[in-house]
Amino acid sequence: MTEKRKVPVETPLGAETVMPDCVEKILQRLNQHGFEAYVVGGSVRDLLMGKKPSDWDVCTSAEPDEIKRCFADCRTLDIGIKHGTVAVLTEEMTVEITTYRVDGLYTDGRRPDSVTFTKSLTEDLARRDFTVNAMAFHPGEGLIDPFGGRADLQYGQIRCVGEPDKRFSEDALRIMRGLRFSSVLGFEISAGTAAAMGRWVSLTEKVSRERISVELSKLILGFDVDRVTAEYGDILKAIVRGFRPVPVAAFPNRLSVRLAAVFPENTETCLRELKFSSRIVSEAACLNRLIAGTPPQTPVEIRKLLAKEGEEAVSLYFSVLGRERELREVQESGVCFSLPRLAVNGKDLMDAGVPRGKEVGKILSELLNLVIEEKLDNDRDVLIKYLQGRTEL
Ligand code: ATP
Ligand code: MG
Repeated sequence: MTEKRKVPVETPLGAETVMPDCVEKILQRLNQHGFEAYVVGGSVRDLLMGKKPSDWDVCTSAEPDEIKRCFADCRTLDIGIKHGTVAVLTEEMTVEITTYRVDGLYTDGRRPDSVTFTKSLTEDLARRDFTVNAMAFHPGEGLIDPFGGRADLQYGQIRCVGEPDKRFSEDALRIMRGLRFSSVLGFEISAGTAAAMGRWVSLTEKVSRERISVELSKLILGFDVDRVTAEYGDILKAIVRGFRPVPVAAFPNRLSVRLAAVFPENTETCLRELKFSSRIVSEAACLNRLIAGTPPQTPVEIRKLLAKEGEEAVSLYFSVLGRERELREVQESGVCFSLPRLAVNGKDLMDAGVPRGKEVGKILSELLNLVIEEKLDNDRDVLIKYLQGRTEL
């Protein structure tokens, strides 16, 4: 199922030059107080791939109160003190420092019942999900890689740390995370890990929909999404109700666009269930409604659609149709297509004798329509004159 890449990719360990000053100082500070400290997880993976890490995670042998003592002169936040995480706020960024820990039993397949601090870096790395995420780095010591993460990174492979069945049964979110990394990094999933994913799919029912949707979002925005949905469509369908494993890579890299594509039916219900924000839900649902209709052809039809659905929705729609330029031309043509840009407003109408109430809105839409159809100029005098001719005020 998973053929390894033939050519190993370069893994320049440019950490000394790339690691921000403040992160290095944090490691030094912990070391000076007698504790071990390493950059860990996604930051090491990104460093090895020559990418700029999105965040910097530090792990340490110091316990939370000891971490806080080391940074008594800095602002710290107890963001996950029970799990051993303290955030240190430096001028450059916020760095999360987590005590080495071993996860306790997972009785609900969702999160460990407890975590136990440990003094062993290897134990901390062993609790992590995939080998490429289970490496640590220290500028003085270099790479700590007990599970072969660097080799998997070179061959482009996602593989569980330890026994895949055990790891997915502990935390089924890892199935989604594995698929997400496969899509974002363009890595194959090792045969053993992929087979175990299929065996534990039903356990994802217990995972919160928010956590699923975070991973799903990253997955469908990943550059290799079409391979992942083609290979693992059945798993994704089993995890996410309403999901259709259709190719989306050719669509614009916008979350609502891609969600609309993979949830073509009952879009709103499916996305609400996944707890997406109401903005994303309505954008995706509107997009599918528009796609189901007849695409506008003439500038007048395009302007009418803009007036009805708003610029944001129409611009998403036109990006899917690949007609962005055409839309831009209409938007920039200077012909008005929205009430706020109409040369008269409700007050003007009332000043001209239209009684306050529903009639005002009705007449404004009528005027806008005539302007959109280029039957009237968007000029205050022209519009008022038309109004006076139209009605017996
Ligand atoms: P990203 O670049 O998206 O932030 P990441 O690998 O840093 O990816 P995070 O969710 O930030 O992912 O987690 C940081 C690290 O914590 C991971 O690299 C991994 O080592 C560990 N981790 C996160 N979630 C899990 C999990 N569910 N099970 C085991 N280890 C996990
Ligand atoms: Mg991260």
